[in-house]
Amino acid sequence: MLDPHRIRTDFPILSREVNGKPLVYLDSTATTQKPTAVLEAMRKYYERSNANVHRGAYTLAQEATEAYEETRSKVARFIHAPSDSGVIFTRNTTEAINLVAQAWGRANLHAGDEIILTEMEHHSNLIPWQMVARERGAVLKFLHVMDDGTLDVGEVDTLLSDRTKLVGLVHVSNVLGTINPVKEIAKRAHAAGARILVDGAQSVPHMPVDVKDIDCDFFAFSGHKMLGPTGIGVLYGKPKILDAMPPFLGGGEMIREVQLDWSTYNDIPWKFEAGTPNIGGAIGLGAAIDYLDAVGMGEVRAHEERITAKALAALRDIEGLEVFGPEVRGGVVSFAMRGAHPHDIATILDQDGVEIRAGHHCAQPLMRRLNVVATARASFYIYNTESEIEVLVESLKKVKEVFARVS
Ligand code: PMP
Repeated sequence: MLDPHRIRTDFPILSREVNGKPLVYLDSTATTQKPTAVLEAMRKYYERSNANVHRGAYTLAQEATEAYEETRSKVARFIHAPSDSGVIFTRNTTEAINLVAQAWGRANLHAGDEIILTEMEHHSNLIPWQMVARERGAVLKFLHVMDDGTLDVGEVDTLLSDRTKLVGLVHVSNVLGTINPVKEIAKRAHAAGARILVDGAQSVPHMPVDVKDIDCDFFAFSGHKMLGPTGIGVLYGKPKILDAMPPFLGGGEMIREVQLDWSTYNDIPWKFEAGTPNIGGAIGLGAAIDYLDAVGMGEVRAHEERITAKALAALRDIEGLEVFGPEVRGGVVSFAMRGAHPHDIATILDQDGVEIRAGHHCAQPLMRRLNVVATARASFYIYNTESEIEVLVESLKKVKEVFARVS
């Protein structure tokens, strides 16, 4: 069983205090903390092997290239991609989805074509599709979120038509924690001749993921939400589909031959990696994957299930507190407290060193669906302990007292 107390010793930031109290970091959905192994891997690269990748005939360039490409293989293994060529480095999930919307979408969407999304999407899997749909005259349709915070898979069949070109949905909701049945939805999308894109920003860091088993066409996630640094993310795509797509950004690295008035392009994945990539970031991500592999993704999930079950039970015990989302979920708990604005909750908790997020969580349509303007959200990872849940609960009881006094 995963021991969060041992794991915590690998994370220097977790020994600091906030407002004179031990830091209780409950915002890993926004970004995760970084273990020493990740910081050291990046430091080692910059101290010993810093050079630009590819093309270099000298030792440093070869070392940098090897380390960068080794991370690609680690990513492929981690998500069970059939080959390294389907793994493209991007800045983050957002850029990965924009890549698909711009490169695949502009080439494949025509007036009247349809894209199916859901009401629970993060803005990063909504705005890129609004942009390309407007340009191409395509139509967006939405799977609605049921009252228990899940999707109705059967509704997919009612929305799919012979005009559907793509189904795009989040694997695990960053607000509700809902774990969507992406494999089942992929099967239905494919049967209707549509492609499927999965936003895996909140699944890859927290549970075993197998893109081959899901049979998705595109899958996007961010390094910084899985112990890695910011500025590095991944788009996985089926190589055949990526091969047929035009490039996204143009420039160095992505070309084969360049004339003044025309060019030919590199093979995938490099065709989609224009310019100098985030080499140090990729190396940091590689170290993060090694760390997660050593812990074991099944263990990660089991630990989060334990912590989340405890948090759900304790929060539901607080009178006047409403928890959103289903019973079976990732390590995310969004809630509202009668009479208290989520921002006030987060500010008061911060006085106790408890760091939670308040706001719309980049999911304004979902907020509207829940009939709130914002929620407070606590989220968990491998370094969170049961006693931190107790601190959260005690601190929330204080919030309740404060608002009972003022109301
Ligand atoms: N999708 C989901 C479900 C997310 O939780 C997030 C980050 N909150 C994103 C997409 C966007 O990730 P990034 O900002 O790293 O691009």
